[in-house]
Amino acid sequence: MIKTAGTIFLKRGREASVKRFHPWVFSGAIHKMEGTPAEGEWVEIKDFQNETLGFGHYQKGTITVRMLSFASKHPDEKIFEEKMANAHRQRVLTNVINEHTNGYRLIHGEGDGLPGLIVDIYNGVAVMQAHSVGMQTDRQLIAEAIKKTLLNSVHSIYYKSQSTLNVKTENEYLLGLGAVPHVITEHGNKFYVDWEEGQKTGFFLDQRENRKLVGQMSKGISVLNTFCYTGGFSVYALNEGASLVHSVDASEKAIRLTRKNIELNGFDAQQHECFAMDTFDFLKDKKNVYDLIVLDPPAFAKHKDARHQAMKGYQRLNAEAMRVIKPNGIIFTFSCSQVVDKQLFYDTVVSSAIQAGREIKVLQHLGQPGDHPVSIYHPEGEYLKGLVLYVS
Ligand code: SAH
Repeated sequence: MIKTAGTIFLKRGREASVKRFHPWVFSGAIHKMEGTPAEGEWVEIKDFQNETLGFGHYQKGTITVRMLSFASKHPDEKIFEEKMANAHRQRVLTNVINEHTNGYRLIHGEGDGLPGLIVDIYNGVAVMQAHSVGMQTDRQLIAEAIKKTLLNSVHSIYYKSQSTLNVKTENEYLLGLGAVPHVITEHGNKFYVDWEEGQKTGFFLDQRENRKLVGQMSKGISVLNTFCYTGGFSVYALNEGASLVHSVDASEKAIRLTRKNIELNGFDAQQHECFAMDTFDFLKDKKNVYDLIVLDPPAFAKHKDARHQAMKGYQRLNAEAMRVIKPNGIIFTFSCSQVVDKQLFYDTVVSSAIQAGREIKVLQHLGQPGDHPVSIYHPEGEYLKGLVLYVS
């Protein structure tokens, strides 16, 4: 049985969103609290009529409770194992995990009913990241659940939450010792992943299906991959027969990672060149060089108050790519800012097109893949948006 450290009663009328399975209880919805839970402990949630709505992790702040169970029955330790098994089953059924792909996201927070938790699997190594104190408190239980779900197919579990939590914590192995360098395959493409030193959990798994699409459209043409990080899009383009690929990233470290991944897949400087440069500077004198350009910048806006400035960034970036791309060229443009929704991103790209003054068609709308699911009751979970554009 999971121990609860308190009971939170919601204000009359504020139970509706919890009853609709929205996983966050905001501080403003709380009528009173019984007990004195510490941050990270479990609490029971009740409505104004004393009816139990579920259980979740308590934390001080605007989101006071992250719901883990919407049942009236008291949860037991098996809850993590059950949710993990469900998440794993979904990835198998939807063909995310297969003989060509052994890097995938096993748990995507709210989308998998475990708000505050990310678990990425890199060919036998699980990287666990807590975004709430509750997940940090329960990390051993979670590690057990990973072991039970993946059995022999996971030999190491690395806990990496130093940069995602405000409480003191160490990055450490909870099982095994991993071993860097470590190679994963994604649709048959090979990549080194370094979860200890890399950004986030080490690799951007969320672009897997979009990388595949870029690969399919790259045959025999020249490709520019901006904000390339580990060179994901570049490797797919080369493996699918692009005539030339250039990768750009402002970080020297990212460029070194890209170079290693290009070599790992058997390509050399003949077909690929790296540039440690700012994308905006790079694009200045590149008119009519590329047939396909990928724009995958970091989240320009991490908060709502940064949104306006961020939109200017997206606007300028897209207008630049539209200005320089060859006639009949393809642009893959993305935004991973959660505070910039689909419509706002689309409108911004329209404004870039007007500025560039070229004829442009929208071929496809892109998003996040099936191992980054969004709970239908928690639209906030949708963050990755993309467009495929055809520039005449
Ligand atoms: N497309 C990548 C992920 C991009 S992450 C993938 O598929 O894995 C964003 C990257 O943008 C980071 O590596 C960061 O170093 C780089 N970056 C940030 N600002 C930049 C700028 N102005 N010009 C070029 N690269 C930049």
